[in-house]
Amino acid sequence: SLSAGPSSGIRPSGIGKVCVIGAGTMGAGIAAQVANAGVPVLLLDVVRDPAKPNAVAQAALDRLLKAEPAAFMSKRAARLVEVGNIESDLTKVADCDWVIEAIVERLDLKHALYEKLEAVRRPGSAISSNTSTIPLGQLVEGRSEAFARDFLITHFFNPPRYMRLIEVVAGPQSNPALVEAVADFADRALGKTVVRAKDTPGFLANRVGTFWIQQAINAAIDLGLSVEEADAVVGKPMGVPKTGVFGLMDLVGIDLMPHLKASLTATLPADDPYRAIAIEQPLITRMIADGLIGRKGKGGFYRLN
Ligand code: NAD
Repeated sequence: SLSAGPSSGIRPSGIGKVCVIGAGTMGAGIAAQVANAGVPVLLLDVVRDPAKPNAVAQAALDRLLKAEPAAFMSKRAARLVEVGNIESDLTKVADCDWVIEAIVERLDLKHALYEKLEAVRRPGSAISSNTSTIPLGQLVEGRSEAFARDFLITHFFNPPRYMRLIEVVAGPQSNPALVEAVADFADRALGKTVVRAKDTPGFLANRVGTFWIQQAINAAIDLGLSVEEADAVVGKPMGVPKTGVFGLMDLVGIDLMPHLKASLTATLPADDPYRAIAIEQPLITRMIADGLIGRKGKGGFYRLN
């Protein structure tokens, strides 16, 4: 049973409905995984075209259904996904036991969304951020005690369907019973390996991972290696067999890199060796300016769409 026990606000039957806010690379994949586990999902994104207010989330769902090689999500699971937009459907989060925020990595936008959520969510339901680098302490700043009690970080990895790791970060105010219920759901319903990380910059995986990716780029540039040559060294031999390090960046989204760097620079102590990654990388800046942000854009290190 997914029962969270009497001391959390999650229904006795466990997590019966999930809301994912942000239908991008991560949010759409997380929503698909939850639906594949047989749990209904409300998937919300912004309104880009007032004539088609749900178009962003709907397009994400359509892409998942068409994803190759195998359908990313079964047709049956897709019926469990309700798409919507944050302007007219946010009040529906009151029906959800767990709200997962997976919008862009910007503290100001996350704060603005949490403020709106606070007014409509059911107290006692879980709310988590998929942030890669923003400390939990900063995310709950300005929110009520009740919000902070129900809040945690659940950091999924890309692509959510294949990456088994999930980092769960609780804050000093987080309700342990609720954190337990979410971790248990991630483990049993989603098949994740749950790693409890502390609220430190970049948590565990990104602190190490971002550093490693940056070093791969610097080494490739300094040594004049092609992407293929660099990946022959840092890809398969270092445990990234399918994509290589550069292919991983195409998958993750190259536009995420400056956000990761900005949050790490803002939070790491001055003498921390991982600050090296905060150095501006002109190649990345130029690629982003040219729209080469990876698979979701017009290409990246490897792929030209
Ligand atoms: P993305 O840019 O692919 O998608 C973000 C989505 O959020 C977009 O569809 C955008 O329209 C939507 N959005 C923006 N503001 C919104 C708002 N106020 N309300 C509703 N929707 C809004 O981003 P992503 O790569 O999926 O990253 C999402 C989060 O997950 C970030 O916090 C990121 O750090 C984290 N993350 C990313 C990866 C990765 O590999 N890309 C891995 C782990 C964690």
